[in-house]
Amino acid sequence: MFIDHVRITITSGAGGHGHISFRREKYVPNGGPNGGDGGRGGDIIFVADTGINTLMDFRYKKKFAAQPGSNGGGSNCSGKNGADLVLKVPVGTLVRYGWDSEDGEKGMVMADLNAPGERRVLAKGGRGGRGNQHFATPSRQAPKFCEDGRPGKEYKVTLELKLIADAGIIGFPNAGKSTLLSRVTAAKPKIADYQFTTLAPNLGVVRLDYTQSIRDGASYATEFVLADIPGLIEGASQGVGLGFDFLRHIERTRLLLHVVDAARLEDDELTPVQAVEKINAELAQFNPALLERPQILVANKIDLPIDPVHMEELQQYAAARGWLCFAISGATGQGMPELVRGVANALAGLPPIAHYEPDYETYFEPERRGDFITVEKDSESGIFRVEGPGIERMLGYTNLADERGFAFFQRFLREKGIIDKLEELGIEENDTVQLYEHEFDYWK
Ligand code: GDP
Ligand code: MG
Repeated sequence: MFIDHVRITITSGAGGHGHISFRREKYVPNGGPNGGDGGRGGDIIFVADTGINTLMDFRYKKKFAAQPGSNGGGSNCSGKNGADLVLKVPVGTLVRYGWDSEDGEKGMVMADLNAPGERRVLAKGGRGGRGNQHFATPSRQAPKFCEDGRPGKEYKVTLELKLIADAGIIGFPNAGKSTLLSRVTAAKPKIADYQFTTLAPNLGVVRLDYTQSIRDGASYATEFVLADIPGLIEGASQGVGLGFDFLRHIERTRLLLHVVDAARLEDDELTPVQAVEKINAELAQFNPALLERPQILVANKIDLPIDPVHMEELQQYAAARGWLCFAISGATGQGMPELVRGVANALAGLPPIAHYEPDYETYFEPERRGDFITVEKDSESGIFRVEGPGIERMLGYTNLADERGFAFFQRFLREKGIIDKLEELGIEENDTVQLYEHEFDYWK
């Protein structure tokens, strides 16, 4: 079965906790703190793998978690980092934040894995907590506390497979689409069939004979994926329209092979060129951008008697749009090698399908934002901790030993709402506030 849309949950590993311990050596009565740090939690990483064609692997298993980091130990021993979890997905997989709702509402794009081998960390593992060795100060030589590891991140995500084939075969029922695909399968350029049901697009890989492409001296894609896209609903020609799945699949191809029965009047009323126009009008109605997708017109069934006027019209229609037009017979194989080379050649000159710009970073990973600041109270030590990229940066350019620098620092805490947050957490006079390596007693 062809699986191109799944809802899963990903969870990165939590960081290991820091450790509290003290040196014990002979003749050293009060050894200093030597509690090690917790290990980092594993990331959830998505990789676009060319060996995978469907989202089948996600059909039954729905929850994916990376390993947590191990806790720190004594004697400055750091905990082991948790192993990352690498999820292989087909090239062309879109990862969206949240689960798509049944009525088609979709979340923000977190990643668009279009390039073979593309690698994206979508849930970072939690940082390991620091052991008590980090908290010794001249006035506190035996810190009896350490940090907890940060929790992992859990996201519900929807995976959608976007690009299914390089070229999609479209056209009216009985135009000869399936015959064309099976014909190219059996012909000299080899096709390896995938195991898909009739509801799914039928895919085949066309491999070109390499020596042949050298002889021609032209540039060809030496291999491409061709999809026979069914789902043209019954009665499309009576104006019922094209199926939604059909149209969605078409969006996921780079080139369209528009097959038309050149020997017959569709429904005894449409000429071949009118049949082509009708399909294209439906495409445009669904998404005008689809009409900009290059097409190759395939006039099929030339083994049958063809009205030369019809053939002429098709050629003119194609030429007017800068499209190629091939006359073939799926029955006899006539014109097939030329068509396959034409498709390969056209694909070689086409850009890969457009990327979706991930729009998650600012909303979705606030940790990366400069103004993201966390204020929390460590329940064990009672220390108030203020962290965030903005804090690190401010500390970097502020000289706290200087009076003006210190005044700026105080203003910064107030303006960023940090003082308010500390008070919300119940801070009192003389409580300790820690900003990375700096510690202060709180005062009003
Ligand atoms: P699809 O609905 O577009 O997939 O069309 P099919 O490939 O199933 O073909 C519809 C009918 O047309 C079948 O009976 C085929 O045998 C026939 N057909 C397909 N290609 C040709 C052709 O080149 N010449 C002739 N004479 N018949 C063809
Ligand atoms: Mg068919």
